[in-house]
Amino acid sequence: MSKFEDRPIALIDMDGPLADFDAEVVNRLSIRRPDIPILKTRHNFYISDDYPEHSLLLREISDEEGFFESLPLAAYALEGFQRVIDLGYHPRICSKPMRSNPYSKIEKLKWLEREFVPIFGEYVVKEAIITPNKHEQEGVALIDDAPAIPKSEEALYGEHIVFDMEYNQASEQPRLYGWLDDNLAALLEAAGNS
Ligand SMILES: [Mg+2]
Repeated sequence: MSKFEDRPIALIDMDGPLADFDAEVVNRLSIRRPDIPILKTRHNFYISDDYPEHSLLLREISDEEGFFESLPLAAYALEGFQRVIDLGYHPRICSKPMRSNPYSKIEKLKWLEREFVPIFGEYVVKEAIITPNKHEQEGVALIDDAPAIPKSEEALYGEHIVFDMEYNQASEQPRLYGWLDDNLAALLEAAGNS
């Protein structure tokens, strides 16, 4: 059981806010195909859609065994998780497995074990929700970089707070500008009241 069990839950997505999925794709792409220029700006939620001529290759890269386990931490991910705790919430991982990558679920858990457990304890992995159905999870908010969450109109969590990225600018959800954003407390509070 978590030491935060009597607190409001803040669900936190992994790929994007905590784990730098794009950086690892680009890293592997530039090793395999140094001739393909890396885009300076990301436009589409799925990075493979930003490289339409090479989308199969990009999908192949993110389906590799070891891919999810080797993602670098996103900027200030650990600080952000700590900030959520310091603000009085119970942060809980809520991440979608990649359907096409059979290793993704187990590797996401291994990644949390390596990056988060030494700092925040075993509870992070024990309580981590790796599910395609984020809308079925309870919490005051879900912090997620997806521009829209499928079935969010039925969501059990209070509010989808969009984690700011170049590719989600069209989303009109309340927006968190990175883990150091001063607005984090206000966003979570407003979500709790929604
Ligand atoms: Mg994500």
